[in-house]
Amino acid sequence: MKPVVAVVGRPNVGKSTLVNRIAQTSDAIVHESRGVTRDRSYYDAEWNGRDFTLVDTGGIEPLKSDDVFSVPIRDQALAAAEEACAVLFVVDGTTGVTEEDESVARMLKRSKKPVFLLVNKLDNPDREEERLWEFYSLGVGDPLPISALHGHGTGDLLDEVVALFPDESELEDEEKPDNMLSIAIIGRPNAGKSSLFNKMIGSDRSIVSDVAGTTRDAIDTVVERSGTFYRMVDTAGIRKKSTVYENIEYYSMVRGLRAIDRADVALLVIDSSTGMTEQDQKVANLAIERGCALVILLNKWDLLTDDNAREHVMESVDRRLTLAPWASVLRISALTGRSVEKIWALADAAAASRSTRITTSALNKLLTDMREFGHTVVDGKRRLRMHYVTQTGIEPPTFTFFVNHPDLVSDSYRRYIENRMRDAFGFKGTPIRLRFRSKE
Ligand code: GDP
Ligand code: GDP
Repeated sequence: MKPVVAVVGRPNVGKSTLVNRIAQTSDAIVHESRGVTRDRSYYDAEWNGRDFTLVDTGGIEPLKSDDVFSVPIRDQALAAAEEACAVLFVVDGTTGVTEEDESVARMLKRSKKPVFLLVNKLDNPDREEERLWEFYSLGVGDPLPISALHGHGTGDLLDEVVALFPDESELEDEEKPDNMLSIAIIGRPNAGKSSLFNKMIGSDRSIVSDVAGTTRDAIDTVVERSGTFYRMVDTAGIRKKSTVYENIEYYSMVRGLRAIDRADVALLVIDSSTGMTEQDQKVANLAIERGCALVILLNKWDLLTDDNAREHVMESVDRRLTLAPWASVLRISALTGRSVEKIWALADAAAASRSTRITTSALNKLLTDMREFGHTVVDGKRRLRMHYVTQTGIEPPTFTFFVNHPDLVSDSYRRYIENRMRDAFGFKGTPIRLRFRSKE
């Protein structure tokens, strides 16, 4: 678990600019899943040798302005702050304090998280004093002048933020044992998550223990099945349905995101009587982007009594699962128990794919084949040449291709390579990542 730093604030104060600025100052930002979703909200960053995750709440945008996702900024900030170990609260030094700022500030005070109050757009360091004082009224500490645009103040800020992180040794203590698999059950409200959870664990009294999760209200349930331990992540929301927000789709998404971040495998529960929705697709894409293996569960299959309805569901899956044709899809009923037993094996298989290591020689054999029989990209006089490839990570499997012109690698060529990799090595159930570097 990397420490999480949340960037909150009302629109237009400069959150995205700040995130980009931090991205540039700390050169380890990973953009490898670029193009997967437009609404990226999580960034991997590094400062002074410490890895952390930066969450840009501006990235959790409403799908449409009039739907359930147009949640007040304050509530978005609340959700982000809950998982963070530090909050960067951005305000606009050129406009002064607004009501929305005050409402975010009140919420942050309740969250009890360390807050950095960043007064942005103070581009001229000599003139900052005059605007700064009024932000003391927010009551969340000393205002720090910054200019996200020009980068003033961001280095010092990061030094202070990183100093708050728990010791690395403490973080390591939380590492999972080898035979432990973390599973998140995600999906829209009423898709059947809690029914499924009960069905999965209920039959054989297999619960080993409940353990505290990493955020305040998270409870994980550890289940043992034939020697393997499964950590069912964030079951508090699933079991009790206690929070007032539980039925609000937005919260179920934020909660799902949090769970995805701690899971090896996400079980996406879809209500077959509705089909796969845009929201389901969005959550699936986020799981992929975060490198989580994915199993699609078409729940309430018992309700589909005619062929047309079944056809409709499968069609919605085909249409919406374009980024993850590799995910297993299982028709289940949490009510009758249909195929629920099969879920464990699919989760095991997806997790195994996610930890796959391919030898360099097998990879380069594939590269040779592709050179001989595949196609490449040509742009004017420039022709893409792939020199060699090596696996640079697991969970999910990550491969680095050393090429002559990385900029020639288009999205469609990337997909082509991914398909060839999957034809050769499988990777059923897991996303994979491809990086293209120029050969030095
Ligand atoms: P967000 O909605 O909070 O993510 O805000 P953006 O990052 O999109 O910034 C909103 C506008 O403020 C953009 O036009 C930015 O260029 C501008 N902006 C952001 N930071 C600064 C800054 O430090 N100085 C100035 N002058 N403008 C800034
Ligand atoms: P959650 O909000 O995703 O946790 O959904 P619940 O587990 O609370 O289920 C929502 C509703 O759908 C409840 O009334 C369940 O009884 C019902 N339900 C869940 N799974 C199934 C199923 O497989 N078939 C049918 N017919 N109903 C189901």
